[in-house]
Amino acid sequence: MQKIEHIGIAVASLEESILKYELLLGIKCYKVEEVVSEAVKTAFFLVGESKIELLEGTNEDSVISKFVSTKGEGIHHIAYGVSDIKSEMQRLRAEGFRVLNEEPKVGADNKWVCFVHPKDTKGVLTELCQERE
Ligand code: ZN
Repeated sequence: MQKIEHIGIAVASLEESILKYELLLGIKCYKVEEVVSEAVKTAFFLVGESKIELLEGTNEDSVISKFVSTKGEGIHHIAYGVSDIKSEMQRLRAEGFRVLNEEPKVGADNKWVCFVHPKDTKGVLTELCQERE
């Protein structure tokens, strides 16, 4: 894995959280994007070479809405950038990690993504992401 690509933070209100994080980081959000298949709206901030991704669920069944209603707002996942997501998925499966997706899926910010079960990573939902060509 190459770097921490982003940290995902689940929020109740994207609009309010963008303003808060613009104040916190002293930089502007560079992208707001809805991922309809995941029922989330996302906002990205570039901090050095890593990013902060704010996520708000767009309906009650969204995993983000459920996370916020059970655990409250806070860190939802850590995403690592990889150059070859399929071979990393294979490598992790061979090491006994439960990779939650059969195949990489299209994520926000022009990425291929997959997730690793938090029970295999000390309680932290882990995302792999690869830039889409
Ligand atoms: Zn993410």
